[in-house]
Amino acid sequence: MSMKKPILFVIDDDQQVLRAVVRDLRSVYGKDYRIMSTGSANDALHSLAELKNKSETIALFLADQRMPDMLGVDFLKQAKEIFPEARRILLTAYSDTEAAIRAINDVQLDYYLMKPWDPPEEKLFPILNDQLEEWQSNHKPEFQGIRIVGYQWSPRSHDVKDFLSGNLIPYQWLDIESSDRANELVVSNGISVKNLPAVFFEDGTFLVNPDLREVGERTGMRSKASKPMYDVTIIGAGPSGLAASVYGGSEGLNTVLVEKRAPGGQAGTSSRIENYLGFPNGLSGSELSRRAITQAARFGVEFLSPQEVVDIDIKDDYKIITLHDGTTMNSRSIIITTGVDYRTLDAVDVERFTGAGVYYGAATTEAHACRDKDVYVVGGGNSAGQSAMYLSHYACQVYIVIRKNDLSSSMSQYLIDQIKATPNIAIIPETVVTRTYGDGNLDAIDLRNVVTGETKKVEASALFIFIGARPVTDWIKLNIIKDEKGFLETGRELLKYESFRKTWKLAREPFLLETCCPGVFAAGDVRSGAMNRVASAVGEGAMAIKFVHEYLAEN
Ligand SMILES: Cc1cc2nc3c(=O)[nH]c(=O)nc-3n(C[C@H](O)[C@H](O)[C@H](O)COP(=O)(O)OP(=O)(O)OC[C@H]3O[C@@H](n4cnc5c(N)ncnc54)[C@H](O)[C@@H]3O)c2cc1C
Repeated sequence: MSMKKPILFVIDDDQQVLRAVVRDLRSVYGKDYRIMSTGSANDALHSLAELKNKSETIALFLADQRMPDMLGVDFLKQAKEIFPEARRILLTAYSDTEAAIRAINDVQLDYYLMKPWDPPEEKLFPILNDQLEEWQSNHKPEFQGIRIVGYQWSPRSHDVKDFLSGNLIPYQWLDIESSDRANELVVSNGISVKNLPAVFFEDGTFLVNPDLREVGERTGMRSKASKPMYDVTIIGAGPSGLAASVYGGSEGLNTVLVEKRAPGGQAGTSSRIENYLGFPNGLSGSELSRRAITQAARFGVEFLSPQEVVDIDIKDDYKIITLHDGTTMNSRSIIITTGVDYRTLDAVDVERFTGAGVYYGAATTEAHACRDKDVYVVGGGNSAGQSAMYLSHYACQVYIVIRKNDLSSSMSQYLIDQIKATPNIAIIPETVVTRTYGDGNLDAIDLRNVVTGETKKVEASALFIFIGARPVTDWIKLNIIKDEKGFLETGRELLKYESFRKTWKLAREPFLLETCCPGVFAAGDVRSGAMNRVASAVGEGAMAIKFVHEYLAEN
């Protein structure tokens, strides 16, 4: 294990500026980081190679744009090849902002900092803190943290990996078929390979074929409520539930958020969300959830995960929430943000391979395993398109299978353009997957042309399915009004239901996001008429809190 401090590397030809920055950085970051500096970009590039050979880590580059031997942007471009994980900040003068903005795309610049930055307490350190925090969250020092030993194509291993990555817990994956370390761990601990996966924790203890809840508990997640009563209970930590939590917590409501799997919901599985306001570079779903959950925690929101709500009930205006472990919680109001699930593919034998080559809505966790293989994506929506783009960096060839004859009616144009420009993605139109084959894990599928009826068998090492959504509302036994597809009805839409008119007893109409049960709200994709966007889910989550206030005020 390396005990070397990670490096903050400053490059500026102006010696005076360089000295000032180094002094500032040392005073604040000297304890945890090594500060390196040079006045020449070429010298810097030479030392980078050397640092790499010595297994040193660079956390952040701070490079001046105008240097005589090289532009800062060009330096960062080359530095990125050697230390891709380091954060990249460009120091610019006002007149260079255009170059800096271009660099956001060219070198995936993380920030540009305008000179001068006095006082550094206000203009430099907060930015660096932010950048270093992000770097820390992605940085995986060698052989630290949790290790999972298992078989690549095992549904159980997939579950554990998916669970940990969804909960933003870094782990090291050790494939028993290719890793010496994995074999050493199994042999030295007397674990039978047929019982894999095994999860090893930092303190050296391990669990064999564990329940996800056990893994959650061992990693410090909380699954039990700490208070007798909450102002609001939010069920589901997708974008909508996370937004509701942040607003609930920040506005002083006693708030609890319950999530059965991992924060982020569907968005958490997205490799790149490009249209969320304020992130011109796009951001990954896990990044968005990490930020949101940190924000909610800061406002004192209690987060129970992994924990599933299995029922809700109402007694004298109080809401009783029953959890999977049989315990109950009490709350004055509820926001249901349980979102949607992907529909399962209707193909022969597909269940046998779920998690072993067939995946629903999860391209990021398994992408590495697709290196140099042919993979298939089923579905023509944005989520399918994004995943195909992501997979194209790993797989030899990505095929998108769609029932329609093109993508134009179902996918955003920017994604269609990206796909067109990617040579290893091909679209197979007017086609459905009808059968899956394999010995343990998927190795082939049948494709049937819906126009000609012709079927052919093709090799496929993975199948990623993104076909339409089903609301997650079956668990609600309470007599709540849903539309014909099972989405929760809210607000004025309820007025068209006769059952509503008979049971609604209040003088007022239901609030915009209120269900037919007063004080029970629905927000995000689970709601009938929702927009299926991160931003609208977030907006509705925030709005729901406003109505919770109004509801609580009248009770
Ligand atoms: C791959 C992919 C890419 C996408 N890309 C984009 C994009 O680029 N831009 C965009 O705007 N939108 C995108 N979307 C759509 C967007 O992610 C969704 O609209 C958004 O996530 C909806 O948020 P939500 O909070 O309503 O529900 P969800 O995200 O579905 O979250 C619901 C949460 O509730 C939890 N839950 C369910 N039942 C229970 C229960 N009983 N107890 C406890 N917890 C429960 C689930 O585990 C889940 O975490 C994408 C979706 C996918 C799948």
